Amino acid sequence: MPRLLVKNIDLLATFDGTRREISDGALLIDDNVIEAVGTTAELSASSADEVLDLSGHVVMPGMVNTHHHMYQNLTRVMAQNDELLVWLKTLYPIWAELDDDAIGVSARVAMAELIHSGCTTSSDHLYILPNNCTLDATIGAARDIGLRFHAARGAMSRGESQGGLPPDRCVEKEEDILKDAERLIGSYHDASRHSMSRIILAPCSPFSVTPELMRDAASLARSHKGVNLHSHLAEELFEEKYCLEIYGKRPVEFAESVGWLGDDVWFAHSIFMTGDEIDRFAETGTGVAHCPSANMRCGQGIAKIREMLDKGVKVGLGVDGSASNDTSNLFMEARLALMLQRVAPHHYLSEKPGGRGGFGGTPTALSAREALEMATRGGAALLGRNDIGHLAPGMCADFIAVKRSQLGLSGTERDPLAALVLCGPFKVDYSYINGRQIIARGDFASFDVEAAMAEHRAVMDRIYRQ
Ligand SMILES: [Zn+2]
Repeated sequence: MPRLLVKNIDLLATFDGTRREISDGALLIDDNVIEAVGTTAELSASSADEVLDLSGHVVMPGMVNTHHHMYQNLTRVMAQNDELLVWLKTLYPIWAELDDDAIGVSARVAMAELIHSGCTTSSDHLYILPNNCTLDATIGAARDIGLRFHAARGAMSRGESQGGLPPDRCVEKEEDILKDAERLIGSYHDASRHSMSRIILAPCSPFSVTPELMRDAASLARSHKGVNLHSHLAEELFEEKYCLEIYGKRPVEFAESVGWLGDDVWFAHSIFMTGDEIDRFAETGTGVAHCPSANMRCGQGIAKIREMLDKGVKVGLGVDGSASNDTSNLFMEARLALMLQRVAPHHYLSEKPGGRGGFGGTPTALSAREALEMATRGGAALLGRNDIGHLAPGMCADFIAVKRSQLGLSGTERDPLAALVLCGPFKVDYSYINGRQIIARGDFASFDVEAAMAEHRAVMDRIYRQ
């Protein structure tokens, strides 16, 4: 087993239990696992097969992306000024032309973009599977590039003719969805510590599947260790209206009625939540993937992240789909999460029920370290992982390094860690995932980005011609 010593790190931000930040830090890696964390002086006598000198760098845990639809990078910059309902209806017919080649190459491009901007573990919520598309294509892409991957088997079963939103040709039969989910769990789900591949069950939203599918997916997931549940919830007011009209319940109430609150469940967005509903998330351990770029892009609103954190709700960050962001950069999401909470008028809203009396925010609403914590520890908690999200002995060897001598970081000597949020976003100069070097000196060590982009262009041309 190769042993790697990483030393002379200007600042090593561990995000461990005591949030230790170590000057002149070092990491000792045994194959894919961290063996020791300390100062260079403490670890430099350790025997190692390889030594990496990261003087002039800030090192932190690799970030965790908890919500994405990677295929959407084939349809970026479209429906630029439309709200979600129109945005979806514009894009569904194009997505209906997807095939496995398109799914595979869009995943490779999305994963490369994520890794370059600091992500080492990602989920991908693939909920539209026309033309016999499968998740095997995205899982294969993660293996090729070396990303730790949680593939979320999404689904839509309620087409327009059944009162749902998507066109009928974009939906699947519920029995086929569950059968495929079982196949994926059998083929790819690894519940063990340091796992590189897990499966998540993820019906798309309350307005695109039936309550029966939500219930069946929950019981299938719970019959396997470590198969978590994920969906969109409380993303839009039309969803709230839909749930009240069709189910006679608000979205969170509906989720609870189909068994979808719990420690193994996390939802994207969760913007339109009452204080009581946030309490319910905290009590049940239900998590939230906060996606600030997408929420701003579609003009949806501001999730009450400060209130959620104060009440103990698990919160991670998600870039969301590349057609509603339109980028896949977790440093960007951390920065925007901070900015958005600071301008959010939540404290006025909760003090004055029903009133939108205030427009002012507060600079204490979210700190740079809290934003990075959501991107690391928070994301790990949503995915049900206690082996990623911070740097400590026994944890996965997933870490990133950013070079300090670059224009955008000039003048940040007093706090180079906060600078990654306040001055960013930045690309990483080094990325290690599961102990394997993926990026070195700012470039991919073995992945051919140019070839992936060329293939991406070719697939896009073909899809748009149809
Ligand atoms: Zn989404």
